[in-house]
Amino acid sequence: MVEENRTPPLDALIVGAGFAGMYMLHKLRQLGLSVRVLEAAKDVGGTWYWNRYPGARCDVPSMEYSFSFSDEMQQQWNWTEVMAAQPEILEYAGQVADRFELRSSIQFETRVTDVTYDEAQCSWRVATDAGEVFQSRFCIMATGCLSVTNTPVIEGAKSFVGAIYHTGEWPHDGVDFTGKSVGIIGTGSSGIQAIPEIAKQAAHLTVFQRTPNYTMPAHNKPLTDEYQQEAKSNYADIRQQQRESLAGIIGYGFGFGGAEPTEPTDELLQTTASERMALVDKKGFGAIHRFMDIGLDMNANEMACDMYREQLSRVVDDAETAQGLMPRNYPIGCKRPVIDTQYYQTFNRDNVTLVDLRQGGIERITETGIQTEQGAFDFDVLIYATGFDAMTGALLQMNICGRDGVALSKAWEAGPRTYLGLQVHGFPNLFMITGPGSPSVLSNMMVSIEQHVDWISDCIGHMEQNQLRTIEATAPAVEEWVAHVNEVADGNMMTVPSCNSWYLGANIPGKPRIFMPYVGGVGVYRQKCDEVVSNGYEGFELANSKK
Ligand code: FAD
Ligand code: NAP
Repeated sequence: MVEENRTPPLDALIVGAGFAGMYMLHKLRQLGLSVRVLEAAKDVGGTWYWNRYPGARCDVPSMEYSFSFSDEMQQQWNWTEVMAAQPEILEYAGQVADRFELRSSIQFETRVTDVTYDEAQCSWRVATDAGEVFQSRFCIMATGCLSVTNTPVIEGAKSFVGAIYHTGEWPHDGVDFTGKSVGIIGTGSSGIQAIPEIAKQAAHLTVFQRTPNYTMPAHNKPLTDEYQQEAKSNYADIRQQQRESLAGIIGYGFGFGGAEPTEPTDELLQTTASERMALVDKKGFGAIHRFMDIGLDMNANEMACDMYREQLSRVVDDAETAQGLMPRNYPIGCKRPVIDTQYYQTFNRDNVTLVDLRQGGIERITETGIQTEQGAFDFDVLIYATGFDAMTGALLQMNICGRDGVALSKAWEAGPRTYLGLQVHGFPNLFMITGPGSPSVLSNMMVSIEQHVDWISDCIGHMEQNQLRTIEATAPAVEEWVAHVNEVADGNMMTVPSCNSWYLGANIPGKPRIFMPYVGGVGVYRQKCDEVVSNGYEGFELANSKK
């Protein structure tokens, strides 16, 4: 570490300049604090800076996946589609930075490598890959839940001679697939968005699918001015409803988009087989939307899966390919919902081949393609759509070391343990935005980001006013919160034994299998956070001097 590069002490250092880091910077500046943001990328935007693969877009209505904190901004910004594509969201992020003149406080192309608590100073020492060292009283991790890509270790991976891309680190100049044969591994949200777009351009596309997903048609379409004006005139109400909702989405835009805004009320278990088939005839994949017991009862869920597979077999022409695409042996609702545009129809194209790895897995990557137990497949370009080391990946990469020299990796050896997803015992004055143990990835992230940023800046404001130096989650508070997070997750479709999702860390070999987000809902969670404050920051220890 190069001590000459130590910079003057800061009040707050933020890591990450996605939506969370940008809003945090804006709020802390308003408190009059000295703040610096360190960001590995060349510009703002986070997720939307890195994930530029063809077809990348939001699956939350644009009118809802946007900041609410500035009414002037939400009134002036115009979205072009019900669910915006990546370039438009990145442009939106750029105008947030411009409007609030954020870039002057952001140091780009700077990766944080070490974060150590200095007990004598009650402050954090943050080192970067450029050898700089920052000292800051508060350290705020806005490092994102899906910002560390996962590239599976497959034998021979380095021997492939063609171009290799990961959807989460896509080249900024795009990729021209014209005349190329392409192989893609992965059929999560990223793969399902990219596959139809790449198939339109490539000479041939081979899709390597380990687990088929349940995916619903997105029904995306352009927004009209009339609709947008109506939404804007109701914004105060829409935003309030979002904040009080389960997932931060009220479906305002979906109604316009063509998909039905649905309030599940009926029981699928009460229907007959012929009624279920009649529903599939009428509504296709949408046939299962209105049944509330799908999320509660495994038999109802399996009925829904049958209806889903029936519709899939109607959309995909080739019977064997349809069978290959059918999800089985795990419930609908176990993984993050996926929505798509012409995904299954893409497999009706002559230039697309499905390799269902359930029939024989990948053996190794070769110089020219992938060798599976079913045979060899050759191509010019290999794409990993293999996801992320979610929720804990970015935090654990930074070698965070807290009080008494305890590493975060040690404290989280058996899985993440937080109080409210905001703080960890033993790591004073260090906050996480949308950390594990908060609704986070189960919600419209913009709503959860705003709530966390507001909470953290109010907390820091309170400390400033009361000359308090440190805040730290107590051990019993963490204990109780972790127990509560597990209790509410128990019995949920996302935690059944047959479910292997990144919510559980199941996509990363060796990662502890713990359900990481809080399923209680953003409205309930917000209330709990507010109660903690009104009870004098219950569960936190606030101190006015160095320990
Ligand atoms: P990010 O946008 O991930 O930003 C974190 C930043 O921290 C990154 O720029 C990263 O470079 C930086 N960083 C991390 N570690 C370091 C380090 N050590 N040093 C320096 N910088 C660092 N959410 C939804 O609610 N709806 C959606 O439709 C939706 N679609 C998505 C689509 C994709 C393809 C992906 C990957 C995610 C999607 N998400 C969606 C989740 C999305 O991540 C959030 O909505 C939101 O953009 C997160 O913002 P953030 O600022 O918290 O994190
Ligand atoms: P993902 O959901 O984790 O999907 C990764 C895919 O790669 C899975 O199909 C997985 O198969 C496969 N895979 C991983 N390792 C493999 C291996 N060794 N061999 C074969 N297949 C392998 O990742 P993602 O698609 O990038 O999505 C991650 C999250 O980002 C989403 O859940 C969502 O939150 C967000 N996102 C949102 C959108 C959107 O619509 N707005 C778009 C993209 C991403 P298994 O299932 O068998 O592990």
